[in-house]
Amino acid sequence: MTRTVYVNGEYLPETEATVSIFDRGFLFADAVYEVTSVLDGKLIDFEGHAVRLERSLNELDMQAPCTKEELLEIHRKLVELNGIEEGLIYLQVSRGSDGDRDFVFPSEDTKPTLVLFTQNKPGLANSSAAQKGAKVISIEDIRWGRRDIKTVQLLYPSMGKMMAKAAGADDAWMIEDGYVTEGTSNNAYYVKDGVIVTRPLSNDILHGITRKAVLRLAEEAQMKIEERLFTIDEAKEADEAFTTSASAFVMPVVEVDGVALGDGTPGPIAKRLREIYLEESRAQAI
Ligand code: PMP
Repeated sequence: MTRTVYVNGEYLPETEATVSIFDRGFLFADAVYEVTSVLDGKLIDFEGHAVRLERSLNELDMQAPCTKEELLEIHRKLVELNGIEEGLIYLQVSRGSDGDRDFVFPSEDTKPTLVLFTQNKPGLANSSAAQKGAKVISIEDIRWGRRDIKTVQLLYPSMGKMMAKAAGADDAWMIEDGYVTEGTSNNAYYVKDGVIVTRPLSNDILHGITRKAVLRLAEEAQMKIEERLFTIDEAKEADEAFTTSASAFVMPVVEVDGVALGDGTPGPIAKRLREIYLEESRAQAI
């Protein structure tokens, strides 16, 4: 089945969907994005993603391409047209194209570019990767200073993934001034003596939609949480670790820089949080 995608008001076969070569997303990475997961054909935490998108746009003085209600309708229509039961919806808004290349932002009448497409991922909730757990390596964090804005500047995270693969691992955790910031595409946590430790929110990390939900659920389950800076050495001595993201939910981490955590299999807190998160997300999906 040819995928149907959305571009600037139109639903088109992916082969017919185009944007300008002058689009500022293409030329300057002048664009923001969101990834929303789909379970049972329904959207997980659409509200959280829509609110963060609005914030990213505001921080960059970028126009909103449409209303939240219209965005919801587009998401739902793409799920329906593509028959998605489990998968992801990628959304990108760029500052658009004014038909040339200029560092100066174009005038207000340049319309933002809005693109959405689905990724069909049967078995997303029951992934074998989550059953095995992920191995991570640490790398230096050399990204820009506004990681709280969800921009499409993903070259370094992409390189980080490649460094991890080259080292026989699955992902990389980034380190700045001696402390872990986050994973290449997820927020990072470790657990020691029953306490969940994760970096506090700031401009240094993305404010994960999954992070917010998982920390709330952990608190409701009477788990202990410490939001503070932590080093990779602390993580190596942890009983267990995990990451959170909209595309992988709660992912157990079983190895850090070659050191196995606990018995080298997914830990009980990560497994429990994954279960609770999936259960509550399915119940709240729209
Ligand atoms: N940090 C980074 C750098 C990310 O790219 C992502 C996923 N886009 C996350 C954290 C997790 O955010 P969310 O739970 O909203 O997917």
